[in-house]
Amino acid sequence: MIDGSRRTFLSGCAAALLGAAALPGRALAQPAMPVPQVPHRHHHVRVDAGSPEHARVALTFDDGPHPRLTPRLLDILRARRVRATFYLIGNRVRAYPLLARRIVEEGHEIGNHTWEHPVLSRQGADRVLREVDRCARIVYETVGHVPVTMRPPYGMITARQAEMVFAERNMPTVMWSVDPEDWRGPGAAAVTRRILRAARPGAIILSHEIHAGTIAAMPATIDGLLAQGLRLVPISTMLGWEPWGPRPSPLRLAAAGT
Ligand SMILES: [Zn+2]
Repeated sequence: MIDGSRRTFLSGCAAALLGAAALPGRALAQPAMPVPQVPHRHHHVRVDAGSPEHARVALTFDDGPHPRLTPRLLDILRARRVRATFYLIGNRVRAYPLLARRIVEEGHEIGNHTWEHPVLSRQGADRVLREVDRCARIVYETVGHVPVTMRPPYGMITARQAEMVFAERNMPTVMWSVDPEDWRGPGAAAVTRRILRAARPGAIILSHEIHAGTIAAMPATIDGLLAQGLRLVPISTMLGWEPWGPRPSPLRLAAAGT
């Protein structure tokens, strides 16, 4: 499912970034989904933060959709007219398709958080690509867009795997620069305080929409970020792209795969 220009792009990338030896000798899984097609080369193999030259930050929410908390979070975002990025787990998109659609309808971006949330650094290249592809496919089938960035579960991915995902699927691995450790349950006030203390232009803020304390923290957090003069933008905007990444060439749905 790779056309000629894409091949050229890949081989150029491989030569520039990896060297021939870094590419696995065996054939990797072909994408079961269209991958983002980029008309120009970009170099976002791994992203921890955006440019500090713009007064904007990206709020990112991992591990949803969640049947009870995602609607509350969306209400909070809508009331403040801000946009975020949701790194959704594929099998939860399958379980809660209406929530995935609402996320997109309200102007937010969906990123790829794999199909079932494994520790990628313990997996081989084929499994990594299968996880990414299966998530991409369900998101595409559900909302009509292909995620253009991925975030590894637990932040666990090797440098070589991130390069492989970039070369094979043209997807940056998006990490974060601000981590309130909300998954430890520190309470809403602590989540807000930690985020506001660390936020600065270009920050990518990690949090999880599956914890009630995180959702409870968001009104004060967002109001505080806005009061600091920061604009909240999706990851694509942070990377200088159009919404949902560089405009892809016409999407082509591959033969049914995984
Ligand atoms: Zn996660």
